[in-house]
Amino acid sequence: MAIIQLHDKKFIKYISSKEIDRIITKIAKQLNEDYMDEPPLILVTLNGAIVFAADLLKQLQFSSVLSCIKLSSYQGTTSTENMKTLIGLNEDVQGKRVLIIEDIVDTGKTYQTLAELLNQKGAKEIRIVTLTMKPDAYKLNLPVHYVGINIPDLFVVGRGLDYNGLGRNLPDIYQLYEI
Ligand code: 5GP
Repeated sequence: MAIIQLHDKKFIKYISSKEIDRIITKIAKQLNEDYMDEPPLILVTLNGAIVFAADLLKQLQFSSVLSCIKLSSYQGTTSTENMKTLIGLNEDVQGKRVLIIEDIVDTGKTYQTLAELLNQKGAKEIRIVTLTMKPDAYKLNLPVHYVGINIPDLFVVGRGLDYNGLGRNLPDIYQLYEI
C-alpha cells in the first residue's frame, strides 16, 4: 500500500523494501572488507536499529561481540534537547574498535553522545554505520563512516523507525504525507 496511517498521521511509501535490501547488501560487503582482519565490537542502538542490525548482521562474515544501548531524544516527530540513557553500555570497550549501528542519523546528537561515552571508556576506534541519514539536519564535524541512503529532512517510518511506537515492522520506508 502506498499510503498508510499511523496514529493521527499519514505516510507515503518512499523507499521500497527491495531497494533497502540492496543497500544493506552493499554496506555488508564494505564492512566485510574493512573489518575482516580486526572485527569490532558492534553496538546497536535500541529500538530503531534492531531491524536494520538484524538484516545487516546476517551478512557479516566476521565474528563480533554484540551489545545494545538505548538513548532517547525523540518525542513524536520532533527531536528534543534532552538525551536520556535508558539502557547503558555493559561491555568493556577499552582498546577495542567499536562499530555503532544506527537506523538514522538526524542532527547527530545521539551519535555525539555515544562517541563521547565510548571515548571516555577508552575505545580505540569508533565508527558508525547508518541505514539512513539526513545531511541537511546533521550538525557535527564527526565523520559518518557508512551511510545506506541520504534522505531529505523529513520524518520517516518503517524498517525499524517508528512514529510514537508504531511502524517499525514495515518492510518499506515511508515519509510523512501532509496534504
Ligand atoms: P539524532 O540524535 O541524530 O538527531 O537522531 C537520531 C534518533 O532520532 C534516531 O535514532 C531516531 O530514533 C530518531 N529520528 C530521527 N529522525 C527520525 C525520523 O525521520 N523518523 C523516526 N522515526 N525517527 C527519527
